Amino acid sequence: MTTNTASSAEPGNRRILLVEDEQTIADVVRDYLLKAGFQVDMAGDGFTALKLAASRQPDLVILDRMLPGLDGVEVCRRLRQSMSVPVIMVTALGTEDDRILGLEMGADDYVTKPFSPRELVLRVKSLLRRSIKDFAPEPPVEAAGLELDPASRTVTHDGVPLALTVREFDLLAFLMRRPHQVFSREELIKAVWGWDFGDLSTVTVHVRRLREKIETNPTKPELLKTVWGVGYRFDNKRYDAVPVSPDDEEGEHGGQ
Ligand code: CA
Repeated sequence: MTTNTASSAEPGNRRILLVEDEQTIADVVRDYLLKAGFQVDMAGDGFTALKLAASRQPDLVILDRMLPGLDGVEVCRRLRQSMSVPVIMVTALGTEDDRILGLEMGADDYVTKPFSPRELVLRVKSLLRRSIKDFAPEPPVEAAGLELDPASRTVTHDGVPLALTVREFDLLAFLMRRPHQVFSREELIKAVWGWDFGDLSTVTVHVRRLREKIETNPTKPELLKTVWGVGYRFDNKRYDAVPVSPDDEEGEHGGQ
């Protein structure tokens, strides 16, 4: 019931939960999504959104920041407690704090109002492409006690499963495969988010969230390092990240 394993990239198999209290905007966005072939559920307030998310198990949630009752940030926070479903937050123009707050609460992406519905549909497709497994998966990679498996999109740390959002997973996978290489936020937003431009604080927030999940002490990161004035790199003091060979039974790599 809670599985999200649809393996087709076809929009017709994908269910979007659209949470928007402004009826005219909701209707326009719904029409664009339907035209693109998606199935759409609609909610006009936060509580209905949470109820529908639980019962309908959407493949992606479009979540307005300003909602009556329970606001979008709180809805996102509660969603994250039980689901890893991709979330696109819709915020008002010029409210950077709101946008950052949305990302902090676990949104994968955001658009600002007023937005182009076509752009939103492109964002939806881009995010869904990342979260489905209809391509030949890359081999697993492990480093510093982290084991990341693209096929199942799971990460464990010393054997303990980590709950990562779609973009957190992609960012970690990208950096783990390129240990010790420094990437600027511009490079990361292009490589991981697939954006030609975008708010670079999106990267900053995701790095911070990732650190809280993978670092022993997030304020003194040992894995996901900041290179001042340049960007970020994945470091590994224990051993280098190496692909795990499928027939390697021992799973031991490198030394201290
Ligand atoms: Ca609203």
